[in-house]
This record gives sequence, structure tokens and C-alpha cells, in this order.
Amino acid sequence: MGDKLYLSYRQIHRTVRSLAARIKADGFEPDVIVAIGTGGFIPARMIKTYIDLPILTVGIRAYDSNNQLERPRKIQWIDEVEKKLTGKKILLVDEVDDTRTTLEYCLTELNSHSPAETAVAVLHHKQKPKLGVIPNFVERYYAGVDIEDVWIAYPWDAEDIDEHCDRAELSESAVGSEA
Ligand code: 5GP
Repeated sequence: MGDKLYLSYRQIHRTVRSLAARIKADGFEPDVIVAIGTGGFIPARMIKTYIDLPILTVGIRAYDSNNQLERPRKIQWIDEVEKKLTGKKILLVDEVDDTRTTLEYCLTELNSHSPAETAVAVLHHKQKPKLGVIPNFVERYYAGVDIEDVWIAYPWDAEDIDEHCDRAELSESAVGSEA
């Protein structure tokens, strides 16, 4: 794995805008956004600016404090989930599709509550061999940007946002083309 890729809020907002435009152009009209926490919380809220829907959240932990991969596990789940999701069209949002184990886990869990349809939207898709799969029942997968296999430093994780944004400007040219 190479250097970190620093991204600014402005870059991410542009990615969200184009991602939302593609979802609309595709004719997908979800009833609800489900954000995978915590990484998907801010992206889901940004998507809501363009696709104004209620946001439900699920809490998943896939990495430990040293960024080492663990099996995804629930640390919080939607209360009365069946009532809220059965028969609904879900847009499941996370910030990044890395090994894909979290997406596979969440999609499988959500599908047990019989939604009408579940689509996936991620800001970033890492082009790498995946450990998880997008199940066959998922017909729509939207990725804002395809990138190489680097660790992405998101602005909401920055302790020094000014330094972070300076680095983001420098690495802007390294970002792949928008999908
Ligand atoms: P996956 O299950 O696809 O391997 O990873 C899912 C979760 O791992 C993401 O929701 C995210 O929280 C975390 N993750 C994976 N890659 C990155 C990365 O490059 N940067 C950050 N900040 N988090 C990542």
C-alpha cells in the first residue's frame, strides 16, 4: 500500500454532487438512506443535500485502532428495522469500498428485512481484489471515484484541518477520474 491520499471537504462535496446526479439520472428513487457508521455518516448527510430523504444509521466496526482489518460486527443497529425497511427502496451509503467485507455484511443483514430494493453508494471504490462480494440481489452500485489501493485520509478524521487541506491540494492530481 502506498502513501495516504488526503481529500478536502471541497473535493468530497464535488464527488457527492456527481454521485447524486448519477443516481438520479439512473432513475433510482430510494425511500430511505441507510448510512454505515461512522464513515458513512457525513457522506450520507452530504448526499441528502441532493437526494432529500430520511437517514437511518447502522454502526459497524471493521478495523481496530491500528487500522488492522477485523471481521465486521454490529455495534449498533436500526431499532424496529423490519417496520422501517420492509418494502422500501434503500440507498446504502458508506465512504469507501475497500475489501468489501462491510458492504457484504450490511447488504446481507438489510436484505433479511425484505426491502423492495437495495442500492449501494460509496464515495470511493478501491480497485483491488475484494474479500467480500456485492450479493446478486443488489442491482445498482454507484461509486463516486475509482482509486488505487491507498489509505484515504478523510477531512473528518483530521486533527489539523489546515494541514490536511494543504496536503489534499498537493495530492489532488493523484485522484482518479470520477466514475
Ligand atoms: P471494507 O470492509 O470495505 O474493507 O472497509 C470498510 C470500512 O473500512 C470503511 O467503511 C472505512 O471505515 C474503513 N476504511 C477502509 N479503507 C479506508 C481508507 O482508505 N480510509 C479510511 N479512512 N477508512 C477506510
